[in-house]
Amino acid sequence: MELNEDQRGVRDWIHGFAAEVMRPAAAEWDEREEFPWPVVQEAARIGLYSLDFYAQQFFDPTGLGIPMAMEELFWGDAGLGLAITGTGLAAIGVLTNGTEEQIGTWLPQMYGDAGDVKIAAFCSSEPDAGSDVSAMRTRAVYDEAKDEWVLNGTKTWATNGGIANVHVVVAVVDPELGARGHASFIVPPGTPGLSQGQKFKKHGIRASHTAEVVLDGVRLPGHCLLGGKDKLDERLARARERVRTGGARTHNAAMATFEASRPTVGAQAVGIARAAYEVALDYAQTRVQFGRPVIDNQGVAFQLADMRTRIDAARLLVWRASWMATAGKPFTAAEGSMSKLFAGETAKAVTAQAMQILGGNGYTREYPVERMHRDAAIYTIFEGTSEIQRLVIARTISDVPIR
Ligand SMILES: Cc1cc2nc3c(=O)[nH]c(=O)nc-3n(C[C@H](O)[C@H](O)[C@H](O)COP(=O)(O)OP(=O)(O)OC[C@H]3O[C@@H](n4cnc5c(N)ncnc54)[C@H](O)[C@@H]3O)c2cc1C
Repeated sequence: MELNEDQRGVRDWIHGFAAEVMRPAAAEWDEREEFPWPVVQEAARIGLYSLDFYAQQFFDPTGLGIPMAMEELFWGDAGLGLAITGTGLAAIGVLTNGTEEQIGTWLPQMYGDAGDVKIAAFCSSEPDAGSDVSAMRTRAVYDEAKDEWVLNGTKTWATNGGIANVHVVVAVVDPELGARGHASFIVPPGTPGLSQGQKFKKHGIRASHTAEVVLDGVRLPGHCLLGGKDKLDERLARARERVRTGGARTHNAAMATFEASRPTVGAQAVGIARAAYEVALDYAQTRVQFGRPVIDNQGVAFQLADMRTRIDAARLLVWRASWMATAGKPFTAAEGSMSKLFAGETAKAVTAQAMQILGGNGYTREYPVERMHRDAAIYTIFEGTSEIQRLVIARTISDVPIR
């Protein structure tokens, strides 16, 4: 139930970076709405933005390394936190679906090194395929004579899309199979035909870059198909058989990536909620109205009690799901989705309560809770909306194909 000595040491180190580098820079990058290269480069310089660091946390046998790191970084700032950790979604895409050789080749190119920092993007969502991944249209067609895949389509809302060194793209290889007919591809640096479309102006997490990615006749060597052609052919054959016989779902590339990353996203939400709660607790103890600190009123104190209770409950759900994933325990009640649902909703509610406790100051950009509230709002939307998490949980616990 608690972090060991090594983990506490790592946590304190990240906390120092969050407090000393991220917090002072947060408001500026939120206003600039640009990718914060200097902050990510500084994280790389101290080894915090690096493949080694993430591998160490990812393979931590307790499962708590990643959630602990995420909570501290997002306590620092969510926009900068996502700039530092956004590559992870693409990395998980390769780790979940790639061969050992692909993992060894592409992961280092996603992070680069301290002297030449690189980032990566995971591109699944499309204008008409958000929650409904089966509506995906980006097509990958195999050119057998050349052993090449040809990709055409438009991806949207891709974190780091268009400015990444490596893009991981999910595309349709067999339209007859719906979401079962998808596969993931690596688009190597500088591949002709891939370009950035619109860059989005956002409500929150504005230091994180979000853009469309256009794929126009992108030709990829056969080895860029994650998992390889034989494995794909076997999976498609099984899926066709299941469609024919009306059997159960099979592996889906995008879903596998999201499932593995949900507790991680929940931990980010916990970090934002904790940051807002701390500001509110401090403010309530020092702001005097009617001759006494506002925390002397149960109406304020009880809100803080609820905020803290929700945050701790969210963290426990996140830690449980991360521990289960690491220990190989099956998610029989969609515990990964539960953790993301509860933590995302907690971040949204707690940041709103914090703003209320700060009164007029909470509504201004003089205090950070206004930004935290905007940042928190994405946590009920991306990586599966709260409604989709509820759908996944409801289907899992009932075995009924609820719509
Ligand atoms: C800042 C940001 C970063 C992102 N980063 C990435 C990224 O890196 N890579 C990537 O691939 N995608 C990314 N996304 C996309 C994100 O995952 C999608 O926005 C999300 O999955 C929701 O899809 P949608 O926006 O199309 O909403 P829709 O699917 O259009 O949903 C609209 C509303 O309908 C509800 N709804 C839909 N279906 C159902 C249902 N069956 N039951 C009940 N309610 C339903 C939803 O919950 C939502 O409230 C990002 C999005 C944003 C905004």
